[in-house]
Amino acid sequence: MTRVIPESTSSPAGTPPAPKRPLPVSRADTFTESVIREMTRLALKHGAVNLAQGFPDFPCPDELKSAAGEAIDADVNQYAITWGSKELREEIVKRVKTYNGMAFDPETGITVTCGSTEAMLASLLAVITPGEEVIVPEPFYENYGPDAILSGAAPRYVPLGDDLSIDEESWKSAFSKKTKAIILNTPNNPSGKVFSKKELSFIADLCLDYNVIAVTDEIYEHILYDGHKHVSIGSLDGMQDRTITIGSFSKTYSVTGWRVGYALADPDLTNRIRKIHDFLTVGAPAPLQQACAAALRLPASYYRELAADYDKRRKILYNGLREAGFACELPEGAYYIFTDISESGKTDVEFARHLIEKAGVAAVPGSSFYHDGGETKLRFTFSKKTETLQEACRRLENAF
Ligand code: PLP
Repeated sequence: MTRVIPESTSSPAGTPPAPKRPLPVSRADTFTESVIREMTRLALKHGAVNLAQGFPDFPCPDELKSAAGEAIDADVNQYAITWGSKELREEIVKRVKTYNGMAFDPETGITVTCGSTEAMLASLLAVITPGEEVIVPEPFYENYGPDAILSGAAPRYVPLGDDLSIDEESWKSAFSKKTKAIILNTPNNPSGKVFSKKELSFIADLCLDYNVIAVTDEIYEHILYDGHKHVSIGSLDGMQDRTITIGSFSKTYSVTGWRVGYALADPDLTNRIRKIHDFLTVGAPAPLQQACAAALRLPASYYRELAADYDKRRKILYNGLREAGFACELPEGAYYIFTDISESGKTDVEFARHLIEKAGVAAVPGSSFYHDGGETKLRFTFSKKTETLQEACRRLENAF
């Protein structure tokens, strides 16, 4: 309902202003603002090197910049078709066929969205009837908690082991008749885990047994190390019509501010996602959709170099963190290192504040990736220039 805002809040001279009545409670009161984005604001305030939020401080490929400029010059400035421009849908579907091994009809199987953030929320809204359970493996990307609440789902968290393995018995016991969906994220933020085909087959069997939909966020699918391979759960037998595969241009092409992503799903699910997407945002930015289609025509070498460059950055940050006294492992994919700070004797929030104010480096407190726990962890991103990472490592020498 629209709230009427009075034109003037000033009161007649001498009359004390009427006390402000508290707003009625809403679902927005049931979660906090993003800790990741808050850390970025604190980093700016204190002049800290921002290794908190996962966005590059280096430019996107020139091909994307010129394609975006050309699109604006050619007046591609009005709404695109709500579920995405035809050219972009066709390019995405082509790439998904070769890279992910899944076939979709560009007319009925894809919705272009404002980033994978919108794709995830629109997908959950399309799938969930309030009160149904959604399985969320933990640690998880912090948006999934509020996404579950906004869509009315009851999240059911299943922890990964300390070595990031799946404990099959606890996963089996999390699935029930109430389970409607599972949110997957591989390669994973924050842990860097890349789910293997064997693990995904185990999860797929549970989805088939319990009639569950997999909503899978594969935004880091091209950022893989040490021979790890990306597998889309939707490509496994029986899963195509019960999987929503979410992708984005943000990370693969270093354009997190462009806000272009997509959800791939069978026509019935896509129909629902498109309706919700239309009323959420109408559509993703039209000229940038044209530039994203150009991104998909980059040669195969682009993806090899992307992974190789991130591998170098991964090693710089890993070595710096180890030398500074952080306990951590090299991630298998994505661009984060999830560290253990038990040694510091501080909580994650205390240590994150201390790092920003005393060392001049921003990281994300581990508790933002758990529904309960994570206070002994901090997450650092290495999606930064070599010089930025070297400066951060120099500053981290005084971390403990
Ligand atoms: N999903 C994961 C796992 C992420 O790490 C991020 C950003 O860090 C997002 C989604 C947001 O992606 P987008 O920019 O496509 O909305």
